[in-house]
Amino acid sequence: MCKPDAVERRLVGEIISRIERKGLQITSLNQRVPDRALAEAHYAEHSDKPFFGELVDFLTRGPVVAMVVEGPDDNTFSLMRTMIGKTSVDDAEPGSIRGDFATQTNENLVHGSDSHEAAEREIALWFPAG
Ligand code: ATP
Ligand code: MG
Repeated sequence: MCKPDAVERRLVGEIISRIERKGLQITSLNQRVPDRALAEAHYAEHSDKPFFGELVDFLTRGPVVAMVVEGPDDNTFSLMRTMIGKTSVDDAEPGSIRGDFATQTNENLVHGSDSHEAAEREIALWFPAG
């Protein structure tokens, strides 16, 4: 998912281009402003963290671009996570999306599912009609 900062900074094309050049396939794509219920469900695993409220504020402040990305194996989530880069901007490697374009951990441009199962759960949330 391209988060609101990616849309605001006109980096959606860059991010999609990297996914395509990697050789992965975008099989669904949808832009919308998520409501709080969707953002809270998306980040439910973080509901008890001190930054949860700010995380939901951030995700709902403008349009996001949700995508289903597919590859040849069940490890597409892992390929995407490598391309996205580490969570903390201090650790995000040059060459990764966060490493190349993000300066703040709380505005780090892209969300990626952290397991195949998480991807299935999140796809059902963001693309309920399939
Ligand atoms: P995402 O789920 O968005 O792909 P991630 O899997 O790399 O990111 P998570 O641990 O799931 O990282 O955290 C979700 C988001 O919450 C992060 O992308 C970041 O913006 C924010 N976040 C994580 N840890 C902190 C923190 N300690 N302080 C502030 N924000 C944080
Ligand atoms: Mg995460």
